[in-house]
Amino acid sequence: MTPESRPISQDSRILIVGAGPTGLGAGYRLKELGHRNFTLVDRHPYIGGLAASFTDPLGFTWDIGGHVMFSHYEYYDRLFESLMGDEFSMIERETWVRADKRWVPYPFQNNIRYLSKEASLECIAGLVKAQSAAGGPAAAIAQAANFEQFMNAAFGEGIVRLFMRPYNFKVWAHPAEMMGKDWIGQRVAVVDVQRALRNLVLGLDDFGWGPNNRFKFPLRGGTGEFYRRIGATLGEHVHLNRGVSKIDVDRSIVHFADGSTTPFDALLSAMPVDVLCRDVLVGNVPDSVRDAAAKLRHSGGYMVGIGIKRPGGTPSTRSWMYFADDDCPFYRVTYLSNYSPFMTPDRENYYSFLCEVSYSDFKPAIPKGEVIEAVIQGLENAGLLQPGERENIVSTWLYDAAYAYPTPTVDRDQHLSVLIPWLESRGVYSRGRFGMWKYEVANTDHSIMQGVEWANRMLLGEPEKTIGIRYAATDEGRTIVQHDRASVAGSGQPQVEVKASNRQGQRTEAPI
Ligand SMILES: Cc1cc2nc3c(=O)[nH]c(=O)nc-3n(C[C@H](O)[C@H](O)[C@H](O)COP(=O)(O)OP(=O)(O)OC[C@H]3O[C@@H](n4cnc5c(N)ncnc54)[C@H](O)[C@@H]3O)c2cc1C
Repeated sequence: MTPESRPISQDSRILIVGAGPTGLGAGYRLKELGHRNFTLVDRHPYIGGLAASFTDPLGFTWDIGGHVMFSHYEYYDRLFESLMGDEFSMIERETWVRADKRWVPYPFQNNIRYLSKEASLECIAGLVKAQSAAGGPAAAIAQAANFEQFMNAAFGEGIVRLFMRPYNFKVWAHPAEMMGKDWIGQRVAVVDVQRALRNLVLGLDDFGWGPNNRFKFPLRGGTGEFYRRIGATLGEHVHLNRGVSKIDVDRSIVHFADGSTTPFDALLSAMPVDVLCRDVLVGNVPDSVRDAAAKLRHSGGYMVGIGIKRPGGTPSTRSWMYFADDDCPFYRVTYLSNYSPFMTPDRENYYSFLCEVSYSDFKPAIPKGEVIEAVIQGLENAGLLQPGERENIVSTWLYDAAYAYPTPTVDRDQHLSVLIPWLESRGVYSRGRFGMWKYEVANTDHSIMQGVEWANRMLLGEPEKTIGIRYAATDEGRTIVQHDRASVAGSGQPQVEVKASNRQGQRTEAPI
């Protein structure tokens, strides 16, 4: 019998740990299905997890990194509509890359004519060489054993040197050789060499933005407003300031930081699964599980908000920018004040930047006390702050996200295939951005749906699709979990094979 066909009963005690999108999605769906015996706890005093927003005393609203809604699910769309109504702004996306001290419209590879002539030549020569790989570029991409090899096979040396390698190291804070390539899917725009050549030779712009490339953003309260509203529908089920300190897997009992305890029949955890296995699980936990958890890798990130006084408000129509150059510490800067007229105290007189700076064991963190100045200096170096404009900075905001990106390392799925099934055998279901550790399904829409699909599995016996796990029976009749991606893993849409050419028209994103 597979886990999907064994739903729990209506009076089972469910505990959800984490009031971020995953936990909220699960709670919302449990309630919708009529289940009442559940509690959702979070150690923080606020709702939303990494998708929370904060308004500072001056009236600037900040998100934990630029949050853009790319929904792949009808359920998510309906939920947003039902809770937000018409209280959202619709943003036309305009994205740029800063590389080789120049501004290049995104996608970079379609607009290399914005580089110097020498750099354009280097990029196009690399592309042509990559296209001439023995067996063809598709074969080289298919054979790539890691992200570094993938980049070289797909983009060629020039684009990799000028943009892909430095930018990706800035985001991931891990060498590309350590990273797999299976997460890429729709996340990295792959090259159409004919198009790149045509744009270069004919001097065409190819921005990949416009009316079809729009996203919704809550009108007031930032990204987090959506999650606050989901939380509000759950009423007394939600308990904030309630940290879980121990989960006794032998007795199915949770211990809270205040010393209280509660039993559970099923537990959904959205906390980082490495922390769960290292610090929280007690009882008979195999070394193999603790070892596998310890091998998962992640990066942290400083989110730095800069609020500026300026007559006329935001000086640009840009949404966000990616940075490859080393004269600034951030990998991405968002004109947050362009996301809604209410992100600053007064749209006519203020604007705001949200800047993201990563760190890891491979990329030492800038000391916390120095990061705001480093970001301001970087904004000046990139020409985003004009000389003397720093005098008009009226607000700065810093959030240190110790867990920002779950690194899709080459061996990640191997470790998850040890962890996840064992946890499930103890009634502990680890889901969400750091619960499942699958970057390719770790955005807000995926996270909400991981929670929703988990509730559907628990109560209706439906298989979970987003996490890309397939269940199979062994010869002895046991259930095992396989972590090769199912056909609908990742985006909620059919998985598209990565090909070297003809990706035109497919929406692609750099890592977010
Ligand atoms: C820099 C950055 C940029 C992003 N950009 C985008 C974007 O553009 N678009 C997009 O859709 N998504 C984006 N995301 C991803 C989005 O934030 C996540 O998808 C989402 O927050 C994950 O939800 P979650 O519930 O799985 O985890 P989290 O949001 O991490 O929530 C987990 C919760 O568990 C709680 N918790 C942890 N330990 C305990 C404990 N011991 N006891 C009780 N509670 C505990 C935490 O307090 C937290 O609230 C971005 C994330 C980051 C960091």
